[in-house]
Amino acid sequence: MKNYNIAVVPGDGIGNEIVPEGIKVLEAVAKKHNFSITTESFDWGAGYYLKNKKFLPEDGLEVLKKFDAIYFGSVGLPEVDDTLPAKDYTFKVRTNFEQYVNFRPVRTYPGVQRPLRTEKHIDFVIIRENTEGEFVQVGSQYLPDSENGMGVDTSIFTRKGIERIAHYAFKLALKRRKKVTHITKSNTLINSLTYWDRIIKEVAQQYPEVAHDQMYIDNSTANFVLKPEIFDVVLTTNLFGDILSDLGGAVMGSLGLGGSGNINPEKDFPSMFEPIHGSAPDIAGQNIANPYGQIWSGALMLEHLGEVKAADAIMQAIDRSTKRGVLTVDLGGKSSTVDVANAVIQNL
Ligand code: ATP
Ligand code: MG
Repeated sequence: MKNYNIAVVPGDGIGNEIVPEGIKVLEAVAKKHNFSITTESFDWGAGYYLKNKKFLPEDGLEVLKKFDAIYFGSVGLPEVDDTLPAKDYTFKVRTNFEQYVNFRPVRTYPGVQRPLRTEKHIDFVIIRENTEGEFVQVGSQYLPDSENGMGVDTSIFTRKGIERIAHYAFKLALKRRKKVTHITKSNTLINSLTYWDRIIKEVAQQYPEVAHDQMYIDNSTANFVLKPEIFDVVLTTNLFGDILSDLGGAVMGSLGLGGSGNINPEKDFPSMFEPIHGSAPDIAGQNIANPYGQIWSGALMLEHLGEVKAADAIMQAIDRSTKRGVLTVDLGGKSSTVDVANAVIQNL
């Protein structure tokens, strides 16, 4: 029987509630599909930072490297300054493990109310570049206390970085409805994002079967709300992808519904799967957090590991559960975190 070694990092806040429920679902589906998972848990994150002045131990990445995948909750506590991201757990893992694809799907959940007028089915994937661009943290504050003070951040987009994310997006589109919409703001960011446009167009030529269009970030946010059904694969930069995926969560009905993967497509390093939302300290410890996004992230992890049937089974069980009204408070329901996981397991 095939076994997968999974590193589990619940992180902070609601991560400690939804990650264990996600694992229960993974263990249940594994049993039904003839494979097993072995998990090892690590208490890294902002809580760990308060005690150790770092988000993970020195050898943390070495430890994680041995695993087949990482199942992650979220890092962050109000007491920990979140302008320390360069030292942050998430940033470290994403960059060191070359998880340059941030895979963030958006879909309709049956029985879940959305803040949209359209009743149309929505099913698209945001592919966010995950290692460079606006998030490279290159820059400085100059004379910050003086009248002439300034703050400068530099965005860096490399040919290699743009090409590899573009190839991933176009290959993905070939397996879907064969459309890539790439989203930039090259009418104002005339050096970096025109370069992005140029390389995307070069790569697009290698995929003649895939329709390709371009949209500016401002216009795309309107379309996410007014015409979300037009999207199939949305390809975008690190910052725009960050913003659009929260909007994607809202369009589905709640931030708690979004799952995601930080993927190293070459499989040189483990990939990491986490919900799109943060650690939500405001609702932690009450057994009310929505675990659907965390559970979906587990399905994405199984798909990445090659257990496609088990991943599909989780998605079908999720759909049966929401359709039957198993909804948490953020979705207008009364079900607890644990209720949702139990319903998904029953519906497998
Ligand atoms: P990060 O910086 O890590 O992205 P954030 O500051 O954007 O975090 P979140 O932790 O994502 O914030 O929370 C934003 C809001 O959404 C909070 O009010 C939180 O309670 C709510 N929220 C987030 N995740 C869930 C969830 N799984 N279930 C219910 N509500 C959630
Ligand atoms: Mg956020």
